[in-house]
Amino acid sequence: MSADHSKHDDEPAGSPEKDAEEHRNFLEQIIEHDLAAGTHEGRVHTRFPPEPNGYLHIGHAKSICLNFGLAEQFDGLCNLRFDDTNPTKEELEYVESIKADIRWLGFDWGDRLYFTSDYFEELYGFARELIEQGLAYVDDLSLEEMREYRGSGAAPGRNSPHRDRAPEESRELFERMRAGEFEDGARVLRAKIDMASPNMNMRDPVLYRILRAHHHRTGDAWCIYPMYDFAHGQSDAIEGITHSICTLEFENHRPLYDWFIDNISVPSHPRQYEFARLNLSYCVMSKRKLVELVQGGHVSGWDDPRMITLSGLRRRGYTPESIRKFCERVGVARFYSTIEMSWLEDSIRADLNPRAERRMAVLRPLKVVIENFPEGETEELEAINNPEDPNAGTRKIPLTREVWIERDDFREDAPRKYFRLAPGKEVRLRYAYCITCTDVIKDAEGEVIELRCTYDPATGGGKKPEGRKVKGVIHWVSAAHAIGAKVRVYDHLFSVPDPNDVEEGGHFTDHLNPDSLEVLTDCRLEPSLADTAPGCHVQFERQGYFFTDPIDSQPGAPVFNRTVALRSSWK
Ligand code: ATP
Ligand code: MG
Repeated sequence: MSADHSKHDDEPAGSPEKDAEEHRNFLEQIIEHDLAAGTHEGRVHTRFPPEPNGYLHIGHAKSICLNFGLAEQFDGLCNLRFDDTNPTKEELEYVESIKADIRWLGFDWGDRLYFTSDYFEELYGFARELIEQGLAYVDDLSLEEMREYRGSGAAPGRNSPHRDRAPEESRELFERMRAGEFEDGARVLRAKIDMASPNMNMRDPVLYRILRAHHHRTGDAWCIYPMYDFAHGQSDAIEGITHSICTLEFENHRPLYDWFIDNISVPSHPRQYEFARLNLSYCVMSKRKLVELVQGGHVSGWDDPRMITLSGLRRRGYTPESIRKFCERVGVARFYSTIEMSWLEDSIRADLNPRAERRMAVLRPLKVVIENFPEGETEELEAINNPEDPNAGTRKIPLTREVWIERDDFREDAPRKYFRLAPGKEVRLRYAYCITCTDVIKDAEGEVIELRCTYDPATGGGKKPEGRKVKGVIHWVSAAHAIGAKVRVYDHLFSVPDPNDVEEGGHFTDHLNPDSLEVLTDCRLEPSLADTAPGCHVQFERQGYFFTDPIDSQPGAPVFNRTVALRSSWK
C-alpha cells in the first residue's frame, strides 16, 4: 500500500516528439510565437480565476493544469485569483476548499493570491473614467424595461432615454449610487457602446448594479458591485496577465473586454484565448448542478466519492498524478467534445497499478470447510505484494481449515465453461492449494450457506495437480484470521451518458442512478489489512483498487472505498 503522494517530480522529461511544433497545442504555439516576437516583454503570466461559489471539479482541474502548466513550461508565473464580484453566492468555505484542492493537485501560486474584491476601488475608478469620456451612463430603466430595449438576435435594440445624459450628471448619480442613496436595482451604470450591435454583449452592457449584500471580504463597505464582465479583464490587466485563458462561452465577450481595455487607463493589455471546456460522460459539471446535488441530499456532500469534484475524487482514491495525466491526455482544443468517463478510470488504474500492493479480500463471503485440513492448524503461505514492483516483496498469509471465498465464485449449476468452484469441480486457492467441492450445505430456504471441500496437499507452491487441469484461481481469506470491514462500491452517479439532456418538464436529477452506491458491511479481509491507515491505496485481487476512507476509517477498522474496478465494465 502506498500513501497518497502529491508531488509530481517523477514526470518524464519532454521527449523530442513532444517538442515538435505539430505536437504542441494551440496555446503553446501562441505563447512560443509571442516569446519569439517579444510580445508582452517576453513574459508569460497566466492565472486561474475561480468564482468561490462551489467546490472545484474535474473541469476546473483542466483549467488549473493548463494555466499553471503553461506558466511552468515557459518559465512564467501563474496567479490564483478569486473572482468574487458576486457577494450573494460566495462563501469562505469555498475559498479554503479551492486553495486546498489546487495545492493537492500539485500547483503553487506562491505569494500571488488575489481577490477581485481587492480591486473594487480601482474598478470604480475605471468606471468613472468611462463616464468622464461619455462612454458610460447611469440608467434609470427597470430590469424589465432594459430587457425589452435590448432587442433580440434578429432585432436591434433601442437606446435608453437616459443614454445621452451629460457625463456630469451620470458622474453625480454614480457617486450617489455608491453612497447608498438609491434602492437596490433602482439604477445601473451601463457602457455606451452600440445598441444595434449584432453581438448582444456590446449592447450597452451593465457595468455596476446596486446590491446591498454582505461581501465575504469587503463586508458592507460597498452597496454597488461591478458585473463579472466589467471586472474580469481589468483584473487581468491590473495583474499584468499576458495570456488570459478562458472557456469558449466567453469568446463573444472578448470584443467587450477589449473595448474596456482600450478605453481605460489599465497598466497592461492582456490577450484572451478560449478553449473548449471539459465535458465528461455520466456526470454533470456545472457548479449550479453540483450545489443542487449537495443541497438536495442526493449525495453525502461535496466530497461524496461519486462526485466529480476534486474533493470527491480524492476521497474516492484518485491521485493528483492520475488527474494531471488525464488532463494532459484530454488536451486542449477549440471544439466541444465529451470525454468518456472510462478515460478518467484508465488514468487512475495506470497510476495505481505499479504502486498499489495486492491483497485478498472477500466482499460477499461464503464459508468453505476444507475437511482434510487438520483442525486447529495454520499454514503460512507466501504471497507477492505487487507483481509490477519487484521491490514490493512478499508477505505471509495464513491458511486454516475454514476459509471465506466470494459467493460469486461458486455456482451450483455451473455452465460448461465455468472455471471456478462447483459441485465436484476443482479450483486453486490463490498462493495455496487446489480444492474440490464435495458437498453443498443449504439453509431451510435453500440458500447455500457452506461448502465442504477437500484439498490436494501435493498442489502447494503452485505445483500442478497430477493428471488434471485446473484453470480457475480464486481469492480467499482464512476464517480464523479474517478481519471484518465495511467496503463501499460505487457506480456512476447517473444512469445515462448525458444527464443534462432532459425531456421537457424533466430535471437532471431524474437521471440519478439508484444503484450508484453499494455498502457491503460483511466483508472479510486478510489480516495484514487490519492496520491500514486512512488514505492508503490497495488492490484487492480480482476486484479493483480500493482506498481507505480518510474520514470514516478508524484505527483497526478501515473503511474501504472502491476507487475503480480492474476493468471498465461500461463505456
Ligand atoms: P461552472 O459552470 O461549473 O460554475 P464556471 O466556469 O462558472 O464553472 P469558475 O469558477 O468561473 O466556474 O471557473 C474558473 C475557471 O475554470 C474558469 O477560467 C473556467 O473557464 C474554468 N472552467 C470551469 N469549468 C470548466 C470545464 N468544464 N473545463 C475547463 N475549464 C473549466
Ligand atoms: Mg463562472
